Amino acid sequence: MAHAIDVALMDKIKKHGPGGTLDVSACFNCGNCTAVCPLAEDSSGFPRRVIRMAQVGMEKELLADEDIWRCYACGECTKTCPRQADPMQFMAAARSYAISRYDATGLSGLMYRSVTVNILVFLLLSAFFVLLLLSHKGGLEMGSNGALFSGIGSTRLFQFIPGEWVHGIGIALFTVIGVSLAFGIFSMIYKVMSKKNLSGERPAFPISALIPSIVSAVMDALNHRRFRNCDATEQPTNEPIYLRAWFVHASIMWGFIAMLIATTVDYLFKPIGSPVPPWYSMRLLGLVGGLVCLYGLAIAISRRISAKETPYDKSAFSDWFFLLLLTGTVLTGLLTEVVVYLPHPTLFGYAIFLTHIVLAMDILILMPLTKFAHVVYRTLALALHEWALAPAPQKATAAASNA
Ligand code: SF4
Ligand code: SF4
Repeated sequence: MAHAIDVALMDKIKKHGPGGTLDVSACFNCGNCTAVCPLAEDSSGFPRRVIRMAQVGMEKELLADEDIWRCYACGECTKTCPRQADPMQFMAAARSYAISRYDATGLSGLMYRSVTVNILVFLLLSAFFVLLLLSHKGGLEMGSNGALFSGIGSTRLFQFIPGEWVHGIGIALFTVIGVSLAFGIFSMIYKVMSKKNLSGERPAFPISALIPSIVSAVMDALNHRRFRNCDATEQPTNEPIYLRAWFVHASIMWGFIAMLIATTVDYLFKPIGSPVPPWYSMRLLGLVGGLVCLYGLAIAISRRISAKETPYDKSAFSDWFFLLLLTGTVLTGLLTEVVVYLPHPTLFGYAIFLTHIVLAMDILILMPLTKFAHVVYRTLALALHEWALAPAPQKATAAASNA
């Protein structure tokens, strides 16, 4: 079987790793990483086989391989690699590379490869959203006739930037993101479903197994089953549960989901800008979600700052960008919750609110292009993996009659 070879593939993937330190070319395919990987559950040779694909330039096969998404970056392989080839960082860089290749615009690849482009895109987007939000007459009315600053009572956030305006922009953003993600998802599905397995055959992908595979992948993502298995071998094993990698990741994810639910329910069922008491259920859910998410982010960031041990000793700019953008969004969201109950409106309160909306819009629009996209691609990869393993109906019947 002929394979298209990209001799520059390894160099391209390296650019997605932590600044110039990734050198998996030292790998001599001993298979040690596969032996120690707690998630290498079958005979696929994960992660050694994926490294080999990159070494020989098999880009098409690498992008079609859901194995890169089945790694949870526990670092066991890197700790035991006899060549210091850092397979964990390679897998992370391969995932970033895959996100950039699923993106049809090419912007994702530019942002991953260049810190300057990444920061520039962020600043330009932020400036655009600030101007867009303040272009509405609600923003221009600030301070006029005491509309925003006089009197005692809650800060009038949605007089400063009308809620309809924010929601209108939000809906437009979701449409752009939906289209952008749909291209990436289609690209990934097409690549994975077109590939042949080691015996040269395409998996059956039986339609009857589609829904169970999706349900299983979503449940896996939500309850961190594989992540917990991956984490189980980490040292020291007596680390308290609230500090374990899977728990920290789950805190960020579940906190974010809680905030998303609170915002969506608010949008659907509460008149925009109507005052609610601090104990209003969705406000409480958003507050608890924000604090839980912030806890996870604080642990994740502090580990990367201290950079004491694998897997936190090396970070790519894309890791920092994602963590800091999310932290800024959550922090300003929590502060907004505080300023609405201040007895006197302040300029600081309005600035925090504006910053929060701009960061939330940044994180949404950049979602398909940045590390945030792993939420979608990892879940999709797990579903496709399960689906590919499902036996074809006739094989299942034959097996049953033989038994
Ligand atoms: S990455 Fe390291 S452990 Fe894995 S096959 Fe290569 S040399 Fe061996
Ligand atoms: S980082 Fe952990 S899960 Fe990923 S390949 Fe290495 S050992 Fe396996």
